[in-house]
Amino acid sequence: MPSKAAISYNALGKEKSDAERQAKTRSTAGSRKRTARRQGASRRCREARDASPLINAKVRKNYLRDLKRVTKAYPAIKVWDTPTGLWLRAPAMPVQHSNREVTFLIFLPYPEGLPLKAWAFWSSIMGYTWIGPRHTNAPDGSICAFEPGDHSWQQGDKIVRLLDIFCVWAVRHLHLEKIGRWPGYQAVPHPYERLMEVQDNEYCGCDNAGRRYADCCKQDDLALGHESLRHDFEAKYGHSKVVPKVIKNFVEGSGPLPVICYPSF
Ligand SMILES: [Zn+2]
Repeated sequence: MPSKAAISYNALGKEKSDAERQAKTRSTAGSRKRTARRQGASRRCREARDASPLINAKVRKNYLRDLKRVTKAYPAIKVWDTPTGLWLRAPAMPVQHSNREVTFLIFLPYPEGLPLKAWAFWSSIMGYTWIGPRHTNAPDGSICAFEPGDHSWQQGDKIVRLLDIFCVWAVRHLHLEKIGRWPGYQAVPHPYERLMEVQDNEYCGCDNAGRRYADCCKQDDLALGHESLRHDFEAKYGHSKVVPKVIKNFVEGSGPLPVICYPSF
């Protein structure tokens, strides 16, 4: 599913320098105007001390209390408790005794109502390969493992449950890779994404669960026109599904912890 929010990404070092620049601007200008704060993607992130009143303390407490259980289920997990949210890096082997290891990178924001962000990579001694584009969000290639409206997992819920859901999502990707077909029902609401990704013999991505794409929406989607659908999709969600460089660098061990800037943050 595409992401509607225009989220931007920074490396921690860069964010610090932007924060310092903001602080300097404030000290010379006295105050910053609301409109000025909306300019510049990297400056939209509030500094930790500005954000602290927005933090949902209960959510943070739930996550931190949950870590023991998480470590038991996913022993190789690493965790970073930052002022704005919890970062987790979780290697897992979703199919027992297989040689396929997946590394999940997850950010669980503390402020109320902000959506989580997560990415998945097949990991081996050869490196890290992004898992997508099927069932990832545009434009950042993050995991889309469930519809938020389905309440499969909500902010503050158990982290192990989230990781388990992601593991099932990874197994479905393995099925796609080996068998050539996405298994089970799926949500692909935009016709362009259906035309680009859903195969004839898969379940359609519309609300009409139970029918194959070729027997459901495909002809209607084709009639809408590939180019006009592409324009509509790109205007709403961006041009492509590409993992932000700061995310990839961090996973590969060549960059600092990323900073995610939400539009309302
Ligand atoms: Zn359909």
